[in-house]
Amino acid sequence: MAEIRRDLLKNNWVALAPESALNPRDFPIKRRGIDPVGNKLFCPFCEGNEASTPPEILAVREDDSAPGLPGWSIRVVPNKFAVFRLEGELEMHHTGIYQNLNGLGSQEVVIEDPRHGNDIHDFSSAKLAAVFRVWQQRYKELSGDERIKYIQIYKNRGIFAGASQEHSHSQIMGLPFMPRCNSGIVDYFRKNSQCLLCAIMAEERQTGTRVVYESDQFLLVCPYASRFSYETWMIPKRHTDHYGDINEEEIADLAAMCRSYLGMIIDVLQDPAYNLVINTAPVNSAYQPGYHWFLEIVPRLLVTTGVDIATGIYTNPVAPELAADLFRQQIPKYLQGCI
Ligand SMILES: [Zn+2]
Ligand SMILES: [Zn+2]
Repeated sequence: MAEIRRDLLKNNWVALAPESALNPRDFPIKRRGIDPVGNKLFCPFCEGNEASTPPEILAVREDDSAPGLPGWSIRVVPNKFAVFRLEGELEMHHTGIYQNLNGLGSQEVVIEDPRHGNDIHDFSSAKLAAVFRVWQQRYKELSGDERIKYIQIYKNRGIFAGASQEHSHSQIMGLPFMPRCNSGIVDYFRKNSQCLLCAIMAEERQTGTRVVYESDQFLLVCPYASRFSYETWMIPKRHTDHYGDINEEEIADLAAMCRSYLGMIIDVLQDPAYNLVINTAPVNSAYQPGYHWFLEIVPRLLVTTGVDIATGIYTNPVAPELAADLFRQQIPKYLQGCI
């Protein structure tokens, strides 16, 4: 049975997988879809293998093909190995000094393309926009369930970024509570009566050293306290709490910017693993001012070190000013024809 255990030391939570746990021989997770003796592994996300996933929740189909069959361009399915399940109500249990919650929540996989090896950084702007629309559609749908308090949209690309499947996909998790991430947003608003992300955009425009690019709708910056080398944020200029409220103009602009940015890091950082993470406001909770959604893109060039684990203080060998300077020089050639 899945559960979410409280980490009493870190004052945080840990989600534990149910019976579907990996065996020791399953680590490290197989790379590049090939086993140690060179055989191609079966991929449940490829077109034609629809029966290998749970029934689809949503699919973008260009023709009138039926659910569960080929003919789709984007497909959303429940995560077969989900820790969370959207069943019953949230329950807190106590065992001795410990506390745990039942695994109430949801985990969905967005299979972004039917073709194996066609990754998100290979997509056209129009295809990226279609993925962002699917994320929005699922965000809105999940926020209609009162039991879900936070919706985490994210993508792991490559083994260093935590991807267990090579086939291009992103994930959408519905959590039964607001995680402790980004608590500074609420603190900043309480002290300054101002949105932290809007303040960051004003500060970055004035300084300029960490700004990579500014489009009609977004500001692309390497954040002041970057935890990871070449970490980048895409912040919508329009103050909006929820990713679900992104509009069509912003989707088109973000897709064009992402296409350029991802194409650039694939070249400049030599095909890195990376994570895409949407930061957004909690749902089905009392309104708290100050949230402002944004997209965080983190190339994963180094693994987490002992000091990161021990202290929570990340050590980053590339200052954001240097990262931004490199990206500022490189991005113009990737922007051509995109924006
Ligand atoms: Zn595949
Ligand atoms: Zn704002």
